[in-house]
Amino acid sequence: MSLELYDTWTRSQREFAPLTPGEIGLYTCGPTVYDYQHIGNYRTFLFEDGLKRVLRLNGYRVNHVMNITDVGHLVSDADDGEDKMEKGSRRTGKSAWDIASLYTDSFVGDLKSLGIEFPSTLCKATDNIPEQIDFIQKIEDKGYTYRTSDGIYFDTSKQPDYGYLGRLDIAGLQAGARVDLGEKKNPTDYALWKFSAAEDHRQMEWDSPWGRGFPGWHIECSAMAHKYLGAYFDIHCGGEDHITVHHPNEISQTEAAYGTRLANFWMHGYFLITNDAKMSKSSGEFLRVQLLVDKGYDPIAYRYLCLTAHYRSQLVFSWDALDAAQTALDRMRVNSIALGDAAARPDADFVARFMAMLNDDLNFPQALALAYELLKSDLAPGVKKATLLKFDEAFGLGLGAWVPKTVEVPDNVRAVADLRWAARDTKNWAEADRLRGELSVLGWTMKDGKDSYTLAKT
Ligand code: AMP
Ligand code: ZN
Repeated sequence: MSLELYDTWTRSQREFAPLTPGEIGLYTCGPTVYDYQHIGNYRTFLFEDGLKRVLRLNGYRVNHVMNITDVGHLVSDADDGEDKMEKGSRRTGKSAWDIASLYTDSFVGDLKSLGIEFPSTLCKATDNIPEQIDFIQKIEDKGYTYRTSDGIYFDTSKQPDYGYLGRLDIAGLQAGARVDLGEKKNPTDYALWKFSAAEDHRQMEWDSPWGRGFPGWHIECSAMAHKYLGAYFDIHCGGEDHITVHHPNEISQTEAAYGTRLANFWMHGYFLITNDAKMSKSSGEFLRVQLLVDKGYDPIAYRYLCLTAHYRSQLVFSWDALDAAQTALDRMRVNSIALGDAAARPDADFVARFMAMLNDDLNFPQALALAYELLKSDLAPGVKKATLLKFDEAFGLGLGAWVPKTVEVPDNVRAVADLRWAARDTKNWAEADRLRGELSVLGWTMKDGKDSYTLAKT
């Protein structure tokens, strides 16, 4: 089956064909590094990682560009309020530059622990200020901008098709703009360049043809996508929240400057949600990858959990769901080890069914179910293993590299276990049960095999 992907632009699943044979240009909106990323953010990055893997399994090389937003993302999407970086700086007492570097490092570490492949290019907004100024200049030359007292704005009314990606009801928005527009001409207009206020001492600011200040958030993506991938490339991704504001704005900028809608396919990952406020970075126990580790989970179990839901539906996070994912992952790892060495070739029929599922708009939940069907099948162990490892090129669970952790058993625990094994040998069941209880108090469980036993920590 040829590869089909859901394109938010057309609101339909359609056949994917690369713009340049063999090579895919992929841009994914990256993190805003004013705080740690939460596991919701990583659901989107995991979806994008899955997409990359599927593209590669289809024989494409993927040139993947991701930005790091380290300036310009304001607390409010209405282009007012504080810059998130400056706010983060006040919160932590560190400089805006230091927190950008701290949270970028943390992001990179989380990518590794979640098995997310590194982008071909990871580019910072602050490293590309001249490119953003040039881009704004181009938009200005084409007549799409106006100046207010606080910045240079994009006039969205100049583009009849502005907001098509989000199917925005522009007339309705205009009519319902009860909020004070200030000096903005239209509710959907947005800042390309913001001036540093005279009374402000911004840590991040640059000179520009319009005055000292900093770039708006949306321009960084248009400018860096253009720099690394050109004015029109294959796929642009982000979270579902970007469908109505950030991505329509990226499109409007590139359309104004270069006459293209930036990408051939627009793909969006749906949110991870919770029934309480835990996803929010302002709440006490906010859901970071490190919190999962602190609670004894393997970050890969979170990756597994994300595979169980289609990227185009929201996923409700719960600790029970993560427990179940950890258990399923552990079982899959043990099964994989038990299969021994891989045969030279995977099973062609299973691989064909697997690819058909993934090529049907990345149906990972179905593909995961197929892995269980594979494990239960009567194929030879070596062929099963080779097929499972092939599947894992898409899952990214690292099954091939996984080795069971060996745990040191303390002498006193080993002694009780030996006594219980001896009691069992002489059919002294009461004593064997008593010793099992003793082991349990010590925090261990004993599993009886035919000729020997194993011990596990509880
Ligand atoms: P940010 O750091 O806020 O710029 O977000 C980074 C990425 O995470 C963007 O693609 C967002 O759309 C995405 N995102 C934000 N919140 C969630 C969530 N709860 N679930 C999934 N993705 C999210
Ligand atoms: Zn973006």
